[in-house]
Order: sequence, then structure tokens, then C-alpha cells
Amino acid sequence: MNDFIRSGRTVIVFSAHAADFCSRAGGTILRFVRAGSSVHIVDFTFGERCESPALWETEPLPSIDEIKKIRASEISKAAAVLGATAECLDFGDCPLIIDSDRKAQVVDILRIRQPDLLLTHWKNDILHPDHCVATDAVIWASRYCFRPVVKGGLNPCPSPQVVFYETTLGTAPVATFVPTLFVDIGECYEAKCEALNQFAAQPGLAERYGILAKYRALEAQSTAWMKGCEHAEGFIPLYTQAAGFSGPLGFGA
Ligand SMILES: [Zn+2]
Repeated sequence: MNDFIRSGRTVIVFSAHAADFCSRAGGTILRFVRAGSSVHIVDFTFGERCESPALWETEPLPSIDEIKKIRASEISKAAAVLGATAECLDFGDCPLIIDSDRKAQVVDILRIRQPDLLLTHWKNDILHPDHCVATDAVIWASRYCFRPVVKGGLNPCPSPQVVFYETTLGTAPVATFVPTLFVDIGECYEAKCEALNQFAAQPGLAERYGILAKYRALEAQSTAWMKGCEHAEGFIPLYTQAAGFSGPLGFGA
């Protein structure tokens, strides 16, 4: 895991809603891009119903299609700040439903792009069911993309590494999210804030997730030997617990 961020990786970041990729992993995305890796963002929904609070306070109330259009523009502007590409599958949020046809669509995305790393929500992010549904589909796809029996008209591809990012802000203790991998995002922090500020439909993300980045940096300093780290993002690789992992790892500046 000490070569977690390096050149030549093909990374896909899955998000249930418009801004989740950016608030949880925006700094790390930029670190991958600056290291010479490619990052593609796949949003399952625009977060049109449950994560567009400023738009739902607008008078007159925009239509769902208008909200989606605004969120689409925010997603592409934020992705551009981070040097990533982005798409939205428009599966509809709150509740997000991913049936077997839609899961096969996710398998196809992996088979077309052949990523070696997927970032997604914490598998136990139970206080927002859409997040759990998204991650269930991502793990499903990562464990079926290499099996020829799962048909989609495309050739099977190797199973990518899966790494979970943060829960909804403030819910980590309830969702039992205890990071075992920290990434120093100090040099990417301003750009992450700039990317978050593209999401006008969700005001205050940069400020609130900035508090979390400082807190994760304290943990990184104390547990992962990342002295001098001021802003960090925390992650849990899918296999660390199964492998009897003994302590947090840090990926410094
Ligand atoms: Zn979300």
C-alpha cells in the first residue's frame, strides 16, 4: 500500500450522489492525477432529491430535470478542477435502486475502462442507504468483472483493488468507519476546496469537510507517522481487515 499513489494507475471513483467523490476523496483524486494516473468519476445519480438542498429552497422550485442539469454542470466543473473525467448514470436518488441490469452496466464500465483501483463509499455507510446500495453494486461488479460467465458482450477484465472512502460527515462513529490508510492532501487542499465550491447546490462543503481533513490529519500524525501532515483523507482498503492488518498506513506528501 506504500505505492498506493503512483503513475500509471487507472482509477474509477464511484459516488452515489453529485459531490460525494469530491468531499471524501477530492484531494486524493488530484494526487493520483498529479502523479500521472488517470481518474474517472462515475456518479450513480445527480443527488437531485436528497443532496441538492439549495435548489430545493429556490423560488420557484426548479423541475427535477432542471436540477439534474444544474448538478451535471457542477459535477463536470469540479471534475475539471481535479483533472478527472466524469459521467453520471442518472439512476435516480433517494432511493437509489440498482437492479441486476444496472449492476451489469457497472460491470461493463469496468470491462471497458479496465481500472486497477476503485474508490467508493464505506460499505457500512448505513445512515444513507443510497451510499450502501452504490457500494454493494461496486463490490458486485469488482467480483464479477473477471468471470466470463457474467455476460455483457465485453471481455472479462482483472478484478480491481477496492478502497472505501469516508462516510457522511459526522457519522463515522455510528457507521464504524475507522481509517486504516491516510493520504496527505496538504498540497491539493486548496484545489479540493475550489472543486467543492463548484457545488453551489450544496453550500458549505469545503468548510465542513475541511474540519474533517484537519481531524484525519491529527490521526495520521499520531497513528501513521505522518509528521507535519495538516490535511488528510482517510480510507479503508477492502482487504485490510481480512488480511489481519495491524495498523494504519500513511501516504505522505
Ligand atoms: Zn451522498
